[in-house]
Amino acid sequence: MQNPLPLQRCPLCGGANQCAPAAAGHFDAECWCRQVTVSPEALQRLPPDQVDRACLCPRCAVGFEARD
Ligand SMILES: [Zn+2]
Repeated sequence: MQNPLPLQRCPLCGGANQCAPAAAGHFDAECWCRQVTVSPEALQRLPPDQVDRACLCPRCAVGFEARD
């Protein structure tokens, strides 16, 4: 398994992603993103090389579904 990218900003909006694995440098850290369903639309907007590696912020991760 690859290590998470050390990115602590959401790749979609540039806001803080609150990503625990990114801060810790490994995926063992418990992250809010395991508790939510990340919107497929949000994932589709990510550059392919960042999917599963860069963490969205909570708002972008669920916002597309919550908006309507
Ligand atoms: Zn965001």
